[in-house]
Amino acid sequence: MQVPLLDLKLQYAPLKAQLLREIEAVADSQALLLGPQTEKLEKAVADYCGAGHAIGASSGTDAQLMLLMALGIGPGDKVLTTPYTFFATASCVARLGATPVFVDIDPVTFNISVPALETTLARTPDAKGIIPVHLYGQCADMEAIVALGKKYGIPVLEDAAQALGARHPLGGAGAIGEAGWFSFYPTKNLGAFGDAGMVVCRDEKLAVKIRALRNHGMEVRYYHKWIGGNFRIDAIQSAVLNVKLPHLDTWSAGRRARADFYRTALSRHALPITLPTEVYADAGLPNHHIYNQFIVRAPKRDELRAHLTKAGIGSEIYYPLPLHMQECFAYLGYEEGEFPEAERAARESLALPIFPELTEEQQTYVVEQIAAFYR
Ligand SMILES: *Cc1c(COP(=O)(O)O)cnc(C)c1O
Repeated sequence: MQVPLLDLKLQYAPLKAQLLREIEAVADSQALLLGPQTEKLEKAVADYCGAGHAIGASSGTDAQLMLLMALGIGPGDKVLTTPYTFFATASCVARLGATPVFVDIDPVTFNISVPALETTLARTPDAKGIIPVHLYGQCADMEAIVALGKKYGIPVLEDAAQALGARHPLGGAGAIGEAGWFSFYPTKNLGAFGDAGMVVCRDEKLAVKIRALRNHGMEVRYYHKWIGGNFRIDAIQSAVLNVKLPHLDTWSAGRRARADFYRTALSRHALPITLPTEVYADAGLPNHHIYNQFIVRAPKRDELRAHLTKAGIGSEIYYPLPLHMQECFAYLGYEEGEFPEAERAARESLALPIFPELTEEQQTYVVEQIAAFYR
């Protein structure tokens, strides 16, 4: 049996006719950038996550970059974040000449550790912001992080690239702190037909500036108030996302049901693996974890992965090398051993196939193969 890590064709098939109609309408209009489809999407996403303002972007990375530009983050500024995330979280800080300051993760959630954040903030009281990442689709400890942001008078900027639709007792992912961003990269829970992203924020003045920065800092055509960039979203991507967004809650429910299935089936085997923990399960929220990824910690992880590959089962490592150990960040001066939980996660974590169309038969096979490996 083949079990891919993700199969986007299965999501596409039932929506094909509608998607192609919307794409054709954009083609017929020849209004190819931003436009009414983008305005519709911005309003829909803002409503969906509970944000005041939303600005579509060419990618999640560009969404973050233009937000940090709008906040004036630059040389000499320190921004605290986790070393166990996708590269863009820290690279956008570095690209602006600012310094990412890493903080180790919580071993249960893989999200930024609050005690470690407190210690690092005490050492770095001049920090300009905190970037928690809602990794795998479950929010970081926003109660504590927002309180720390208040205490130090700095903004909390949420990397919600993997978490559109995830709920936290304080609100929707991305819309809890001062600002946040989403990615519509095809493998995210809401995926475009290519690259796209979005910033959301509370403050209207900030939104106005981001909107201008998206288009080379212009408010009036060819008069540049700020130095921005080309961070525009394609109208076709917005049209595709407008078709898909109404299905997102159903897809999240599908992912959650498959996570439950894994949890029950894997628990029956008394395996030495650690299952993901739902830390907000008692909060009475439907989508407190939306499982962009289902991550287990596995002894002999690389051997298990080789076994699964041979059995026709897709898997992935998010992420194999923490950011403080990346070659391009050597100049930051971190050493191996400095963030032991991030480094351990890189050695132990494994993503199993999870997507709404995954069948019970496929999941049973994945569980059997994992059990066979440890037998
Ligand atoms: C996907 C992702 C990004 C970047 O989004 P793109 O749309 O690929 O630029 C940033 N942060 C995290 C945590 C991500 O998973």
